[in-house]
Amino acid sequence: MSGSWRAGGAEWSVLVHGGAGQRSPESLQVAIGSCERAAGVAAESLAEGGGALDAVQRAVEVMEDTPELNAGTGGALCTDGSLELDASIMDGAGLRAGAVCALPPFRNPIAVARAVLEQGAHVLYASAGAAAFARAHGFEPVEPATMITGRARTQLQRAIERGKAQLWAGGTVGAVARDRDGHLAAATSTGGLPGQAPGRVGDSPIPGAGNLADDGRGACSVTGDGDAILRVCLASDALARLAAGDAPGEAACASIALLEARVGALGGLILAHPDGRLALARTTDCMSWAARQAGDRAASGG
Ligand code: ASP
Repeated sequence: MSGSWRAGGAEWSVLVHGGAGQRSPESLQVAIGSCERAAGVAAESLAEGGGALDAVQRAVEVMEDTPELNAGTGGALCTDGSLELDASIMDGAGLRAGAVCALPPFRNPIAVARAVLEQGAHVLYASAGAAAFARAHGFEPVEPATMITGRARTQLQRAIERGKAQLWAGGTVGAVARDRDGHLAAATSTGGLPGQAPGRVGDSPIPGAGNLADDGRGACSVTGDGDAILRVCLASDALARLAAGDAPGEAACASIALLEARVGALGGLILAHPDGRLALARTTDCMSWAARQAGDRAASGG
């Protein structure tokens, strides 16, 4: 499945996703509702002249705070029942990036990733080092029980019974945006896979794999089988296609097809072109999303 908007581009635009995977119709509606709120918050800020980087951070924070999605509160649990969070954010103007992986419970991992970007010394902090960075920058760790949901516990139980991590939790979140100044940004956040080994890190916090923004080429957030996505550097592949002149819809479809053809894996991705055009593609049963563009009606689906 794929989609794209407005052939002529847009002054500002934002597209968010709530994860590729399988969901019941009821659960899909909840995920789409969260995407709509996230896109709405980002659109409000972009319409007032706000920057793309702030817009994608705010959108992802809304979705991290949605317990039904696999990011922040409600994130997938490791085999030992712990919550390890991955998030990344990138500024297409200066190619600044910030990311955290295997972060213990902090309410909004994407805000910690943004602090890493702003500090500028390094791109990626892991585990205890990421937690120390967060504390040093004014973030308070939270009681794990306040972020662990019954849904996440049930998914972990199912993964333990099956004897392997569940690939299709759905509910990883991401956003891409272009602002009025023509700058692009991308952000992605996840709890990973239900029943993953402690310390396992997927594509979401890795620039070029699960997240990428470059004003000259585009912005991309990916979801799906993270171990496979890492091996084909999927976000980088999608932006290379935009740079080569593919229309956003073609680039999204070709990259997601490559994931299946080369490493036999499924997933979804969202794209923003430097001119503000948006596109998405998925090979999973569903992927919740919502889009807003200057001068256009809100759109959403799954
Ligand atoms: N890509 C994420 C990971 O492998 C999972 C997802 O997108 O659902 O950690």
